[in-house]
Amino acid sequence: MGVREGFEELYGAAPEGVWAAPGRVNLIGEYTDFNEGFVMPLALPHTAVAAVSRRADGVLRLHSADVEGPVVELRVDELTPRSDTGWAAYPAGVVWALREAGHAVGGADVHLASTVPTGAGLSSSAALEVVTALALDELYELGLTRPELARLAQRAENDFVGVPCGVMDQTASACCTEGHALHLDCRDLSIRQIPFDLASQGLELLVVDTRVKHELGDGAYAERRAGCEEGARQLGVSHLRDVAYEDLDAALARLSDERVRRYVRHVVSDDHRVDRVVSLLDAGDVRAIGPVLTDGHASLRDDLRISCPELDLAVSAANSAGALGARMTGGGFGGSAVVLVEAADVDTITKAIEEAFAAAGFTAPRVFPAVPSAGARRIG
Ligand code: ADP
Ligand code: MG
Repeated sequence: MGVREGFEELYGAAPEGVWAAPGRVNLIGEYTDFNEGFVMPLALPHTAVAAVSRRADGVLRLHSADVEGPVVELRVDELTPRSDTGWAAYPAGVVWALREAGHAVGGADVHLASTVPTGAGLSSSAALEVVTALALDELYELGLTRPELARLAQRAENDFVGVPCGVMDQTASACCTEGHALHLDCRDLSIRQIPFDLASQGLELLVVDTRVKHELGDGAYAERRAGCEEGARQLGVSHLRDVAYEDLDAALARLSDERVRRYVRHVVSDDHRVDRVVSLLDAGDVRAIGPVLTDGHASLRDDLRISCPELDLAVSAANSAGALGARMTGGGFGGSAVVLVEAADVDTITKAIEEAFAAAGFTAPRVFPAVPSAGARRIG
């Protein structure tokens, strides 16, 4: 059943509209967003779709086709951060964040369904938030810009759900365009659409979803974040974005803590790798970004230490089988890797990764192409 039909069955009337917002993969620039640095995500063809109508009585009803359980019913004037509403906290948090920012958002009926794999590092949560934000923005005629929508969706996840994520995921879902990667400056949220037309170059970007999520991840993110803040403090800058790549060695020499030094080296060098990738893509040399991706993986593995055996194997098996380059993407400790390949080699490289996982006794990974797709939009 489609989302529109699901809405009608559930709420007994047609929705006022239907919206979609995609998940994303990040091509390069990891753990740089909260350091006010640079990232380069692209939207996936996978989307969260929401059918939504306004309500005049301040009631918010939320339902997901992908979750067992009844409609969640809340009142918009009683929304409380971290109030344990399960999955519904993501869309409810968006209503809360919009209202906190002074926007006149009343009640709504929401029914949604998503094709973004959850917990695979592909931002199913941001897709949910952004699709809700866009629907309410249009229905309540708020006139928000896409970067504003993304910021409010991030606020929902940070302060209402209680997940301290950066702004990349929501911005990717809100602002990406088909056939492009998004070069995002996480300080001022300025964006540039970088043409990333792989098909015309005979290339493909594969996502390898390892289908594992190691528990370590939650605490580790906060620890890395605190370590980066400590590094910035010791270097006397507001954020690590302010350390120039040319000054990296001198900066590292001033840091006494080996752990903080590794984190700083990762963040500053990954910001530089984003620059490299932008220059190479501007020059039309797409194949040359492969080794930059693989360098980025080494930095995440050895300096930030957020990889895991499954991600390392995805990268090494892909590269041994002839990939142009590969790296883990997202928060780490499981989730997904991206692999740049010649289109002609997709089958051999996919098979090599699958065989390596089987030989290691790992869960079979899911491999699919990351076609650079459109950002959030109204679809009905
Ligand atoms: P990621 O964003 O990397 O996929 P998160 O842990 O940030 O992983 O978000 C996953 C959570 O988002 C799920 O546990 C669930 O609460 C919520 N979610 C994602 N997709 C859906 C969906 N289709 N229906 C209901 N909740 C969803
Ligand atoms: Mg998420």
